Amino acid sequence: MSEYWLRFWGTRGSVATPGQGTVRYGGNTACVEVRYGTRVLVVDAGTGIRLLGNCLEQESVRRVDLLISHPHMDHLGGFPFFRPAYQAGVHMDIYLADTVQSGNGQHTVAEPFLKLMEAPHFPVIFRDLPADIRFHRLAPELRLGEMTVRTHAMNHPGGCSAFRLEYRGKVVVYMSDHEPWARALGPTPENLALDRAALEFTRGADVLIREAQYTSEEYPSRRGWGHGTYEDAVADALAAGVRKLTVFHHDPDHDDAFLDCQLAAIRRQLGQAPLEVTFAQEGERIELIG
Ligand SMILES: [Zn+2]
Ligand SMILES: [Zn+2]
Repeated sequence: MSEYWLRFWGTRGSVATPGQGTVRYGGNTACVEVRYGTRVLVVDAGTGIRLLGNCLEQESVRRVDLLISHPHMDHLGGFPFFRPAYQAGVHMDIYLADTVQSGNGQHTVAEPFLKLMEAPHFPVIFRDLPADIRFHRLAPELRLGEMTVRTHAMNHPGGCSAFRLEYRGKVVVYMSDHEPWARALGPTPENLALDRAALEFTRGADVLIREAQYTSEEYPSRRGWGHGTYEDAVADALAAGVRKLTVFHHDPDHDDAFLDCQLAAIRRQLGQAPLEVTFAQEGERIELIG
């Protein structure tokens, strides 16, 4: 086993899209497994987390860290089917921003999970899960063993956190649901500064996993939905000196043939530019340190 690698278990945005047309890029919603040393880090708990959990159970993994970008269903809905949560002796630390208010007006980071697993939505109550699960409010920076995780707030309805994962000199940035500020709200100096700060957050990344859901032609009719374009993702990655851009959070209405077509067009336009671009595929593994 290599020292630092990641694998995509869910690449789709918004809603799971199984079927013949999505076999290659995948139909499960957002979930990425990151391994470094002996540690297991999971980013987002979309429907892809179910099969990952089955693998972790087979490996008898006893400790898992879970980062949640935001509690929309395509990033959380797979959690009730994550087997390690049902195993006594598993220790799980869950990190997310404090965005949801409970009924009595109190904030609690656990709230999205408690609401997800209660009647009438689900037969098992969250508090009855046998694993030892602890919640943590996301800080601007946290240490998970030898890994440093930095967070950055993105533009998305209800908020969304991006993560910069640094381990032994290699950097992965996970920047899911995000609509560039200037595009969404106009090119004011404030919005342009926010876009520049987001770009700097990805500076020099070895791998940038960034959401891009629309073509530039599709975008105007979807402005304000909280998602961006291929064009902006590629331009920002080039400007930030990213080595590899992996486009993520594919639109449910974009099948494999459509995504192939978009990727080919991007690569043609890039020509000899120093940026590798791929579209994330379910099951794909990327090596950071061999
Ligand atoms: Zn999403
Ligand atoms: Zn979202």
